[in-house]
Amino acid sequence: MHQTKIPLIYHPSYSSLALPEDHRYPINKYRFLYQAIKSKYFHLEGHPFTEPKSKAVSSDIIAKTHCPAYVESLMKGTLPAAKLRRIGFPWSEALTQRTLTSTGGTCLAVEQALECGIAIHLSGGYHHAHYDYGSGFCVFNDLVIAAKHALELGAEKVLIVDSDVHHGDGTATLTENEPAIVTLSVHCDKNFPARKPASDFDVPLLKGTEDEEFLISFKQVVDLALRIHQPDLVIFDAGVDIHEQDELGFFNITLSGILERDQWLLDTCMNQDIPVACVVGGGYRSQHEQLVPIHMCLIDSAYQVWSRRKKEQK
Ligand SMILES: [Zn+2]
Repeated sequence: MHQTKIPLIYHPSYSSLALPEDHRYPINKYRFLYQAIKSKYFHLEGHPFTEPKSKAVSSDIIAKTHCPAYVESLMKGTLPAAKLRRIGFPWSEALTQRTLTSTGGTCLAVEQALECGIAIHLSGGYHHAHYDYGSGFCVFNDLVIAAKHALELGAEKVLIVDSDVHHGDGTATLTENEPAIVTLSVHCDKNFPARKPASDFDVPLLKGTEDEEFLISFKQVVDLALRIHQPDLVIFDAGVDIHEQDELGFFNITLSGILERDQWLLDTCMNQDIPVACVVGGGYRSQHEQLVPIHMCLIDSAYQVWSRRKKEQK
């Protein structure tokens, strides 16, 4: 880690989608989280966020993961109504820009993590996007696109640790024939999506799962995956819809449980010198600002691990 500050990646387009009033997607949480990080950590020093460019990701990179006809019809706004319903967003120019920028942001997080050890993207985790269709608010699978990007940058093995409450179905199917990308999903067994194709490591947990059981299962499976595969990079989907008050999750995980998950994951990877690119993932509350302290666990954990490492290096 040569840099003095943790690379953070954000773009205003993440919260710039016009959605109907009662839409379940917490579109404002990205902006609220960005503002909260600025006021907590950068009130004196400006805000060293990197903005991915809207053209940050080329259609060539996306075409390595998604069907070119799907990508084209999304871009042109000619996606059939049924496919748009499955995604859950009305089509707009802003949606395409947000999707491209956000995909580019996760690729940027991968680049910066490989360089600095940790990077955090304040979006990403669109794990329900499949080869030729999107679903569950996911349009392009940034996790897989960024993992492939890491392989092109020289990583030989990438582990995607998906701790969102929902199963990473799109990630699993898109990497079926990709031995260099290892997938791991710890999720609620009775939750979206109904069909859960096999990841390399799947840990389905029951509705109502509490901190202790969740943390034991999470640590065990991540330890195992790290030991077997010794990845050159971890992409961590730090979804907070595992939280007890989440409106789309059925787990009973407390704030301190989430903090422990994030601290442990970052500590474990740092101790093994494995870079981690983090994305914020899911988290659903009708009061979007209530998600901020929960997503903040990831940022606080990263700062703790980062400053400890800096001290050790001195
Ligand atoms: Zn989710």
